[in-house]
Amino acid sequence: MGSLDWIKGEIESMKSAGRFVPIKVLEGPQGAWVRISGKDFLNMCSNNYLGLANHPEVKKAAIEAIEEYGVGAGAVRSIAGTNEIDIKLEEKVAKFKHMEASLVYQGGLLANSGTIPAIVGKDDLVFSEELNHASIIDGVRLSSARRIVYKHMNMADLEKNLRENASSSSRKLIITDGVFSMDGDIAPVPELVDLAIKYGAISYVDDAHGEGVLGDHGRGIADYFKVSDKIDIEMGTFSKAIGSMGGFVAGPEYLVEYLKRKSRPFLFSSGLNPGDTAAVLKSIEILERDDSLLKKLWSNSDYLKKNLSDVGFDLGHSKTPITPVMVGDERKTIDLSEKLYASHRIFASPIVYPTVPVGTARIRLMPSALHSRKDLDYAVEAFTSAGRELGIIK
Ligand SMILES: *Cc1c(COP(=O)(O)O)cnc(C)c1O
Repeated sequence: MGSLDWIKGEIESMKSAGRFVPIKVLEGPQGAWVRISGKDFLNMCSNNYLGLANHPEVKKAAIEAIEEYGVGAGAVRSIAGTNEIDIKLEEKVAKFKHMEASLVYQGGLLANSGTIPAIVGKDDLVFSEELNHASIIDGVRLSSARRIVYKHMNMADLEKNLRENASSSSRKLIITDGVFSMDGDIAPVPELVDLAIKYGAISYVDDAHGEGVLGDHGRGIADYFKVSDKIDIEMGTFSKAIGSMGGFVAGPEYLVEYLKRKSRPFLFSSGLNPGDTAAVLKSIEILERDDSLLKKLWSNSDYLKKNLSDVGFDLGHSKTPITPVMVGDERKTIDLSEKLYASHRIFASPIVYPTVPVGTARIRLMPSALHSRKDLDYAVEAFTSAGRELGIIK
């Protein structure tokens, strides 16, 4: 018996519960269609909302930056020096988000797990929304602060918890996803920010699925709600609509200066590669000058949602392009995904426990600006036929 043998048993039990989903290998770039095992599949599960992951101008910017600056950052920024394009990107992000300053991280997960422990510690309180992303949960755990979970979208519950702790002299942080990635609903940020002000708490919104999707030219959730001047910290990622890699937090200049001295992913992990930094800069430039991709994303998602709900699918209560096709049963969800894949060449991954609660399994469709109407019609026809065969719709 090897000491890792228990893992085999864990895998067997995941398999029998329908929670061991194979990972597909792609043989080309992200796009409306992707190549798998030499065949093309309609891609309905990427966060590449605007198609910037394989945009010719963005690729060109990355290639040019590699020619000029090479492929690696060399070491952590505080030791090997910060590349001038890192500074350019931080200024660009701050301006784009209508915030004073920003700090770029190597990813969204690191932005959360690095920033949260820098601003709260073991004597502090974190009011955390029930469905927050794993990277927020990790950040809170790393901080050792006391976590008080409030109910999903429920500002009355948040206020009740704030009131109960009003006399505490601890530092308080209210933290939430802006757009909830598995359901596509949007946090009531204006009410949340007002509660933060009323109770003297820090407001912190993770805008990973709002970047490039919500607000004027995709500036994100704070712009969408017009609260950029009231929110304390806006966090985001460059790996979704922005099409590349990296993450950031935006807020006051002194926060950024403080994080540069306190945040562990900044101090103990090398900076983004120049190619990624340049790609992100170019993607934001494209968003600033042109919102046609954004408009196409929304019209595609309205079209897909209308046609799927017309044939009887339950799409939950999404307010964004995220389109969850609710199935419930995990085995059935995996069967639907496999049928779509094998019989219709549609790549649409099942989302099961522990990513979503047991009994709420779904296929989350991600329409993008790259899909044509013909692609979306093709998806709806395939879902209709497979959904009827499996008894998910009539
Ligand atoms: C995807 C996501 C992240 C992580 O971003 P990466 O850049 O992929 O590490 C963080 N928060 C939320 C809400 C996300 O959806």
